[in-house]
Amino acid sequence: MNLKELDLRHLIHNEVRFRELARKGTTVITRAEGSTIWDIDGRAYLDAQAGMVLVNVGYGRRELGAVAAAQMERLMYYHTYFQYSNEPAVRLAAKLASLAPEGLGKVFFTLGGAESVETAVKIARLYQRARGRADGHKIICLDLGYHGNSLGALSATAFEAHRAYYGPLVPGFVHIPSPDTFEGPFRADDPEAGRKYAALLEERILAEGPETVAAFLAEPILGVGGIIVPPDDYLKHVRRICDKYGVLLILDEVMTGFGRAGTMWACGQFGVVPDLMCTAKGLTSGYLPLGAVLVGDHVIEAIAEADFPFEHGFTYAGHPVSCAVAMENIAILEREGLAERAARMGERLKEALLARDNPYIAEVRGRGLMVAAELVRDRETRERFPEGNRAFRFDVEAGCLREGVITGIAPYRDTLMITPPLVITEAEIDRLVDVYDRVIRQEGDRRRK
Ligand code: PLP
Repeated sequence: MNLKELDLRHLIHNEVRFRELARKGTTVITRAEGSTIWDIDGRAYLDAQAGMVLVNVGYGRRELGAVAAAQMERLMYYHTYFQYSNEPAVRLAAKLASLAPEGLGKVFFTLGGAESVETAVKIARLYQRARGRADGHKIICLDLGYHGNSLGALSATAFEAHRAYYGPLVPGFVHIPSPDTFEGPFRADDPEAGRKYAALLEERILAEGPETVAAFLAEPILGVGGIIVPPDDYLKHVRRICDKYGVLLILDEVMTGFGRAGTMWACGQFGVVPDLMCTAKGLTSGYLPLGAVLVGDHVIEAIAEADFPFEHGFTYAGHPVSCAVAMENIAILEREGLAERAARMGERLKEALLARDNPYIAEVRGRGLMVAAELVRDRETRERFPEGNRAFRFDVEAGCLREGVITGIAPYRDTLMITPPLVITEAEIDRLVDVYDRVIRQEGDRRRK
């Protein structure tokens, strides 16, 4: 039996419909270099999705393999429970604290994004109890937010299709409208949009009862929801409101962090420091699994002051090999100025795409190499194509694939997500723009007929 048959027979893929996968067949990836990946049949693809939006330093970095091998030989595992720790975990925690926004000096390691979110939620609840808010448990989230698929992280995620069959979910998670100036109630041409979206948070805190709310949890730029960039002042208003009611601000920088949005963290672009920050993905660029929660010193101090036990942990938290690789990955990001490069390349991408004047693109937006294009039937009215059996975005995605480009799409609306490795070259950016423009026109014209 060949590998593709074995795959269909035994491997359960993420987020699939089993019958559809059996019809389509699988694509087994065997090799990668820079921004290009190859499948088992030798076909090359330009990966404009950077894996699952995480291969920030690009594929095929030999130096990361070398660091992993050396650490495996010296100490392949030791945990970080009780009084124990290991050298790479300590060094990486200190490095992250030095890179973090001011005041986020404590670090807890996880295995990925969902665990980072779950950990941040638990710490926020613990903190509220430690400071005497016995009922301080609710977490307010955004209705287009994505925070992972484990039950706690899924409870923070609003997408109905993800949640539908898995209830009951964890109680205490509530959702408010996202600061979406393309489709939401307050649009980009409203100078007050940021304040108005933030006011929805205040209304909700008051409706729930401030003493019952532990935290507001949000991505500074929403990723899976469609790369939604909030108005510039939104997070500043959010920060002020959280402070007013003693609610913690948890920012989920799992996708935006480590240079993706054109700076080390996205929150700095909005002039905001959260109380807790969730990270994963770009922390190792996917070379090994690792996540981290960066926690404000004041949060841990309050818990320590109350002498509340921190009963939380994962066997693999602070894994020395993952931590050593993360350290070298960050060194590469810094040495090669990849955050600045992402900002530069993102501008080139947006300008080039806009210059094509594509009739089916109503808006191009984003920060760094987190770029979105809104796909519509009519860009004047912003009318979308009817979804019917198959939405426009899926045809665009399939068309790009035929041209050898793997692209991201938002799962629940016609939004193209362009998030290549930060090392993508100018020539590769130009090729992406060519392919996107051609495929979107072809598929749009076909649907209009
Ligand atoms: N948070 C955000 C913002 C994400 O984009 C993701 C994954 O896409 C997650 C959390 C979940 O991360 P993981 O899949 O590593 O659990």
